[in-house]
Amino acid sequence: MKKVSKMNNELTIENNQKCTGCEACKSVCPMGAIDMKISDNHFSYPVIDKEKCNECGLCNDICPTILKPKSSTHNIGVYEGYFADANKRVTSASGGLATALGEKIIDSNGVVFGVSYSDDFKKAEHIEIKDKKELERLKGSKYFESDKNNCFQNVKKHLNNGTTVLYIGLPCDIAGLKAYLRKEYDNLCCCELICHGVTSQDVHKKYIEYMEGKFNEKVLLFNTRYQRIEDDSQSLRVLFKNGKEFKRPMHHSLYGEFFYHFDRPSCYNCTFKGDYRQADLSIGDSWCEEENSLYGKSIAYVHNLKGEKLMQSVDGFKIRELNFSTVKNDNPSINNSLPITKISLKMKKYYDGKHLKWTVFRSKNLTGKIKFCLRNIFYLIK
Ligand SMILES: Cc1cc2nc3c(=O)[nH]c(=O)nc-3n(C[C@H](O)[C@H](O)[C@H](O)COP(=O)(O)OP(=O)(O)OC[C@H]3O[C@@H](n4cnc5c(N)ncnc54)[C@H](O)[C@@H]3O)c2cc1C
Repeated sequence: MKKVSKMNNELTIENNQKCTGCEACKSVCPMGAIDMKISDNHFSYPVIDKEKCNECGLCNDICPTILKPKSSTHNIGVYEGYFADANKRVTSASGGLATALGEKIIDSNGVVFGVSYSDDFKKAEHIEIKDKKELERLKGSKYFESDKNNCFQNVKKHLNNGTTVLYIGLPCDIAGLKAYLRKEYDNLCCCELICHGVTSQDVHKKYIEYMEGKFNEKVLLFNTRYQRIEDDSQSLRVLFKNGKEFKRPMHHSLYGEFFYHFDRPSCYNCTFKGDYRQADLSIGDSWCEEENSLYGKSIAYVHNLKGEKLMQSVDGFKIRELNFSTVKNDNPSINNSLPITKISLKMKKYYDGKHLKWTVFRSKNLTGKIKFCLRNIFYLIK
C-alpha cells in the first residue's frame, strides 16, 4: 500500500539541510528512483526521479539525519598504536590501524569495505576488498565526499550469507549503512574515522584538473597524508606520470585551504559526534606525547565488546592502553563539529565552481592576502 507523500513543510530527503550524502536513501529505494547530484552549493545531494518514485516514503523513514539517532556510545577502552613494520606505517594515514584491522578480517575469511581513489584520482569510492594485498588501495585519507556505489546492498548480501564484514568509513557513512540495514548483525563490525569534515568531490576534481593543467601531465599518485622521512611532517604530495613531484604542507596548500574551510554544510553541525556515534570503534590520529613513533600513530576509542575483540586481535601492531581522561581533549574532532568562520563563509560565497586560487585569495583579509602571496613566492623560488 502506498503511503501518502510528505506535506510541503515536513522534513524530507530533498529539503534536509543536515543531509550528509550517506546514500542510505538511494540504496534503499525499491524503484531505483534516487540519484546523487551536485547541487548549487557544490556538494552532492539526493534527487528523486518523480516518474520512477512510487511515494513509499522509505527514503524519508530511514534517513539517519531525519530520524534522531539514538545516543548509544560508551567508551570501554582507549588505545594507541602503530604498525611495527615502518614500511607499512609510512604509507598509512596515521599508524595504519585501519589496515591492520582489515588484515585481521581477511585472515578470517571476511571482507572489508573502505574508500579508494578512482584510477584517475578524480573521485573517491567505497569498494569491497577480499585480498590482503588490495588493502593498499584503501590506505590514506581521502578528504572529500565519496561515492558509495552498491556497497550497502553488497554488505547486506555478505551478512545474510554469514560472511564477516568490516565496514570502514566516516561516522555518517556508518550511520547510513546501519539505517539501510535496519537490524543488527553479529557478523558486522563497523569502524569509523574520527572526522573533521569533508570538502566537495567537485572541488577535489577541479584541483586534480588544475594540477594536471599546471604540470601538463596526468596524476600518478595523490596523497594528502604523505609522511616524510626528512622531517616527520605530513604533506600533500602529487606525483605525475612523467616523474615530476609536487609537495607542500597541507596547511600551506590550495587543497588544504578547501579541506579546512570549504566543508559540507552538514559537517558544521555533525549529527554523529560525541555520544551519537554508531560504530563499534572510532579511530584517528594519536597526539599523545608520552611515546613517540617515527611517522604517525593511531588512536582507537572502543565502544563495545565486538570492537574490543577486534582491536585485541590485530597482528604486527604495537598497541598500548591509554587513560581516557588524559586523551579526551587531544582530538577536538571527536566531540566538536567544525566552527563556521569568516573565511569559510566567504569561500562559500566566492567559489564559482572554477577558480580555486582566486576563491582563496578573495576570501582572506589583508594580512591573509599578503601571507598567501608571500607563501606562493617562497615556494616558487624554493
Ligand atoms: C575526511 C576525513 C577527516 C578526518 N579528520 C580527522 C580528524 O579531525 N582527527 C583525527 O584524529 N583523524 C581524522 N581523520 C582520520 C585520519 O586521517 C586517518 O584516516 C585515520 O586515523 C586512519 O588512519 P590509518 O593509518 O589507520 O588508516 P590507513 O591504514 O591509512 O587506511 C585508511 C582508511 O581510511 C578509510 N578512508 C579514507 N578516506 C575515507 C573517506 N573519505 N571516507 C571513508 N573512509 C575513508 C579507508 O577506507 C581506509 O580504511 C580524518 C579522515 C578523513 C577521511
